Parts: sequence; C-alpha cells; structure tokens
Amino acid sequence: MKKSIIIAVIALLIPQIALGWGRLGHRTIAEIAERNLTPKAKANIEKYTGGTPLWKYSLFVDEMRKHPDYKEVLDGFHASIADCDCTSPQVVRDRYRDGKDGVTAMNNFREQLKNYKELPDSVVLFAIKCISHIVADFNCPSHVRYVDNANKCSFPAIYNGKKVDMHRWWDTWLIQSLHKNRTGKLDHKQYADYLNTLSKKEIKSITKGWAQEWFEASARDCRPTIYWIDDLKIEKIDQKFVDKAAPLAEYQMQKAGYQMAKALNTIFGK
Ligand SMILES: [Zn+2]
Repeated sequence: MKKSIIIAVIALLIPQIALGWGRLGHRTIAEIAERNLTPKAKANIEKYTGGTPLWKYSLFVDEMRKHPDYKEVLDGFHASIADCDCTSPQVVRDRYRDGKDGVTAMNNFREQLKNYKELPDSVVLFAIKCISHIVADFNCPSHVRYVDNANKCSFPAIYNGKKVDMHRWWDTWLIQSLHKNRTGKLDHKQYADYLNTLSKKEIKSITKGWAQEWFEASARDCRPTIYWIDDLKIEKIDQKFVDKAAPLAEYQMQKAGYQMAKALNTIFGK
C-alpha cells in the first residue's frame, strides 16, 4: 500500500469525537499563529520543524494521546478548569484535573523552553507540536470546564435532523457549517484569511499575559453558553442557536491563533 494511502486510512481510523475544534478548526488556528510569528521566532522554529507548517502539527496531541508512549504525557491537556467565577488558580486546577490541564502544560513548556537551544531537538519539536494544539483547546467552548457545571457540555442534541453530541457540535460541526456556507470549501487557509483580520490594538489586548489569563478570558467569554444550553429545552440546535454561537466560536478561534503566536514568539523570539 502506498504511504499516502496508509496515512489516509490511519486518519480515518482516528476517533474524532474529542478533537477540540476538529481538524478544520485546529488547522485554521495554527495557520493564524504561523502568520503572526515574528521573523526571528519563525526562523528559530523552522530549525526544528524543517519548515513544516504549524498546521500540520496542530492535531498531533489529539492523534497521539491514546498511544501508549504518549498517553501519560498528553492526556488531560485538552481541557482546563475554572471555578464559577471563571478564575483558575493552581489549587483549582490541581484539585479537579490533577494539574493536567492546558494552562499547566503551557506554564511547564515556558519554563522548560527557557534555554531551548540547550535541549535535544526532539524535545523542542515535541513542545512545538503540543503548543500548536493546546492554546487552541483551551479556547474551545466545550473544553472549558467549570467546577459548578457537571454536564461538561456533553449531551445529545438534534442538529440538521441528526443526533449529535453537543461537545462535538462545538468542536466540529458548527465551524464546518459556517465556513462551508461562506466559501463552499473546507480549506483552513481560506478560513485563516477570513479570521486573521484583527487590528494590532485588538491583538495586543487579547494576547496580554500568558496561558492562565488567556484561559480565564476564554472561561468568561464561554460562560454564557451554559445558560444557552439550559434554554435549549427542546434539545434541538436551530438556526437561532447557530447565529448566537457562531460569533463566539470564531472569536475564540481568533484569540487562540493570536495567543498561540504570542506563546511561540515569547519562547522562540530570542
Ligand atoms: Zn485536544
């Protein structure tokens, strides 16, 4: 079997149920990040990636997290926890996810990579692959966990006449349908063209701080969706719901892209 066919078969076998943002979303966010790297950070990153674009790494964490060699390292980084006030101090993260959340992962990577030039290439490349995913995940509405909300955004709903899991709807179906309606194509580069449009002032504001601040902003912005869901008595996702959810989802993707660039620029820009 040709290598390309084998890769395609493997891709089909990978369960899609818990991909924060799905393939299109993760690739789009990483593409936005790549377009916002400083020349120095981009050049330093390419020493490890050999010029492979970040979007190609954006699903690595989801694809490998059940692999025996990676399970221990990667599992748990896909969601982050906030208390009911949308804050996420270490004590909250430790208590509810044993410290294995996206915010903690990003803090650890920043610390580990302070002297990245002295680390083995494989260690640095692994971190680049993880960062290309994790910042996106903690901006995904279904990957924000609140200590006072038990449903984890995972319950059945009806969308376009089909039964879907609400978690997966946020992860995948919503943005796929939005993008399809706009361009008729599912291409992450075109979606990045559409979303990579914030002003310098807006970018500065949403990238202020580091992972904890970014996640807490995400938790605050996504918090109302819990109540939208409570309003969804008929458990049917209609156009009204889509119209409400779309601007939030795309704003979350924009934030994720620019924050990912900030993280990589901070670490590799020197
Ligand atoms: Zn993930």
